[in-house]
Formats: sequence, structure tokens, C-alpha cells
Amino acid sequence: MSIPRNEVIVTADDVATPSKTKQILKQHDLVLKKSLGQNFLIDQNILSKIVSAAELDKSRGALEIGPGIGALTQQLAKLAGRVVAVEIDQRLLPILGETLSPYPHASVVHGDILKTDLLVLFRQHFEGVDGVSVVANLPYYITTPIIMKLLEEKLPLENIVVMIQKEVADRMAARPGTKDYGSLSIAVQFYCEAELVTIVPRTVFVPQPNVDSAVIRLRVRKTPPVEVEDADFFFAVVQSAFVQRRKTLYNNLAARFFSKENKAELEALLHGIGIDPSRRGETLSMGEFARLSTALRAHGCK
Ligand code: SAM
Repeated sequence: MSIPRNEVIVTADDVATPSKTKQILKQHDLVLKKSLGQNFLIDQNILSKIVSAAELDKSRGALEIGPGIGALTQQLAKLAGRVVAVEIDQRLLPILGETLSPYPHASVVHGDILKTDLLVLFRQHFEGVDGVSVVANLPYYITTPIIMKLLEEKLPLENIVVMIQKEVADRMAARPGTKDYGSLSIAVQFYCEAELVTIVPRTVFVPQPNVDSAVIRLRVRKTPPVEVEDADFFFAVVQSAFVQRRKTLYNNLAARFFSKENKAELEALLHGIGIDPSRRGETLSMGEFARLSTALRAHGCK
């Protein structure tokens, strides 16, 4: 029988089972650190969904953030041609050495992902691969900074498949006019197409986290879906529109970009681009935010 592409092939050495994970932790006398978001995966089914969503094959590379004891890393190594995993906790390195010993094309870099120069890491490890995906069960205390670093550093990435808090996944994939839609939705969707892959129960982790989780896939866009002259200014406008969600767009923008004396100009500007000043930021599409930032910039706002 042929094995479907990207299906996890379970072997006796796999660490993602409750008994094997507990055995490894006991053997190494390892107490997991809550402060580092150490909730390890113990479910092959969820692992299978994560790696399938990443669409890996031997011509491609995978960057993992926070390999833990290697539950996901093993599966990535079975499918991808090159795997690099960045782990902050030095105590895990000898365990990863054992878990990954059958996979010479997988390497572990000791470091803090937020302080790692990823362009250098890509040059050192992914030269010659057809495309790179980030695949990870992220440490939840730094989910958003990690995603924004990956997107803003303009890395040659194909997609990002990550397990994160469900509430953050909902915000990343939210559409205009919904309660979850905000500056994070726009920042992520400016760079990527976002889709929810699956919702994950707490029971698939050791120890169990106190939030629900979800796997999200971000397909990195070649070009943003809207044209903006100055991306930093565009994001500043978006941020300002959500400073106080219950306030109108007019009030939020006036507080950030206009003085008491020239507030009336804002009303005219909004009418001029066909946006009702009494709307709330959460109702504006990305296209409308692009139009708004172009008009504010042309008006001399900074
Ligand atoms: N991948 C493993 C799994 O799925 O079982 C472990 C995932 S656990 C949620 C998060 C991992 O990220 C831990 O191993 C933790 O030590 C590591 N970590 C936390 N902060 C980090 C950072 N700033 N840079 C790199 N790794 C980090």
C-alpha cells in the first residue's frame, strides 16, 4: 500500500505519545518551564494535520521554532529535505540530539528566535532548497512578536503553519465587520492569506495549557493585496483606527493626526474618499484603509 503524501509515519522512536514523552522527561529529570511556554504535543493525529498543511517534500526546507523534545521535528525530518529548529532552552539540546540522530539533514540551533538573524540563518542552512516553510507549535507568550518578525523581515518564505492560541488565530484570520477584526488581522493579511486549519483541544499537550489552541496556515503573498506608498504610515493609520474600538473612525483619527483647529478638514477628507466619518475602524476593509492612508499622507499627516 502506498503512503499518502505528507501522512505522518508513526515509528517506535516517535516521542509524541503520552508514555514516551513522560519517559523522556523523567529520564532526563526535566521539569518543564511555564515561562518558556513549554507545552509539548503528544498526539500523532494533530502532528499529521500540521505537517500536511505545510505541504513539504524532499526538495523543501522547514524552519521550526521551539522544537522541545522533537515531537514535530521528527515528523518534519521525515518529509522535508532540510530542517532547522531554533530552541532557547539549553537543557533540551542533548535530548534533541538523541531524538534527531536518525536524521542528519535536521539541525538544532541554540538561541532566542526573537534575537536570531534569520536572513543569516537562511543563508547558512537553506541554500539550494526550493522553498522554506515555518512549521511550529509556538511558545504562546511570544506568538505575535514571532509572527511579525517572520513577516516583516521579508524572508523567502512560502508558508507559515503554526499552532497558536485559538483567540489569536481568530484575530489573524478575521474579516472586516467582525469582533475579532483589528490591526493584527490587517497586518497579517497584508503579507499573507490566512486560513484556520483546525481547532485543537487542550488534551493533546503535556502539560495542558489553560487556553484553547488552533493551527493556522499563512500563505505568504508575493505582493500585498493593496497598494500603499508607505507601509509604516499605512500601519500607523490602521493602529490609530483601533486605539479605542468603540469610538468612531473620525474620533480616533482626529486624536492621532489632527489638532483641535483643523479637525474639520478630516471630515471633508473622509467624505472626499467615500468613507462615512461615523463608521468604526472595524468596518473598514484593507482597501479602504489603503485609500485612507494615501489621502492622509497627501494631506501632510505624519
Ligand atoms: N515543538 C514542541 C512540541 O510541539 O512538542 C515544543 C513546543 S512548546 C509549545 C514551545 C517551545 O519553544 C519550547 O521548547 C520552548 O523552550 C521554546 N521556546 C520558548 N521561547 C523561545 C524562544 N524565544 N526562542 C526559541 N525557542 C523558544
